Amino acid sequence: MELKGKHALVTGGGTGIGLAVARALAAEGVNVTITGRRLEVLQEVAGDNMFPAVMDVTDDQAVAEVIAAAVAERGPIQICVANAGIAEGRKLHKTDTEFWRKVMATNLDGCFFTVRESLKSMLTTDWGRVIAISSIAGLRGLDGAGAYSASKHGVIGMIRSFAEDFMGGPYTFNSICPGYVDTPIVARNTDAISSRAGVSAEQARDMMIQANRHKRLIKPEEVAATAMWLCNPICESVNGQEIQIAGGQV
Ligand code: NDP
Repeated sequence: MELKGKHALVTGGGTGIGLAVARALAAEGVNVTITGRRLEVLQEVAGDNMFPAVMDVTDDQAVAEVIAAAVAERGPIQICVANAGIAEGRKLHKTDTEFWRKVMATNLDGCFFTVRESLKSMLTTDWGRVIAISSIAGLRGLDGAGAYSASKHGVIGMIRSFAEDFMGGPYTFNSICPGYVDTPIVARNTDAISSRAGVSAEQARDMMIQANRHKRLIKPEEVAATAMWLCNPICESVNGQEIQIAGGQV
């Protein structure tokens, strides 16, 4: 399968895992629309087949409009990487409705809007890949992660069902479940974990390193390599699955 010239959408493509995936696709000659809420972040990494567009995934109308504009410019989206997400954590008794809804709106609704709108153009083609970035928190419970874990379990269930909707067709739908990856999310969560667990920032970072059982943070490029593998024709039979890149965590 020649990826060159195809159009991919990577949400949250300006940083972390999304940026690594976008760069790996762009290196194969794919035209990649990268989205996020901060234009300056996207513009800084744009170029070399990477095209920035501001899009808040919680806003269904904006998602529809931005994706339609990208399709008009670069053709049908044949690779959709629904990656945008937030990883804020709170224990149950501190999870108010507003916090719960913010996490769901970004991680679950945002993934749904992205995939639904991308699919409109993908279905006009004879090949497509949908890849959602879930988490190992989508496969297990984690201290202080009720909302996050629920949203990421939701992503997995949704993607499994979307695969069923089109089973036997030329499209595949899979989730990737990373463990702790060295991105801005881990840096931001260090303080949150530190205050929740009553440990220093250094100990909080070490807790994440130790949780990956190979005792290191995962590189964003390791997650990107799995996304690229899913785009390979050899993966035609991998559908409705969730793939852990988690150092043996689950
Ligand atoms: P980053 O914070 O670097 O990436 C998150 C991206 O999502 C940012 O580019 C951010 O851009 C974008 N984003 C957040 N909210 C919105 C929104 N409402 N609308 C549009 N874009 C949004 O961290 P990661 O690369 O680590 O995270 C990527 C994904 O990987 C997330 O879904 C996360 O849950 C998942 N993940 C990460 C793990 C880790 O250890 N790092 C582990 C397991 C899963 P902007 O702020 O400019 O909008």
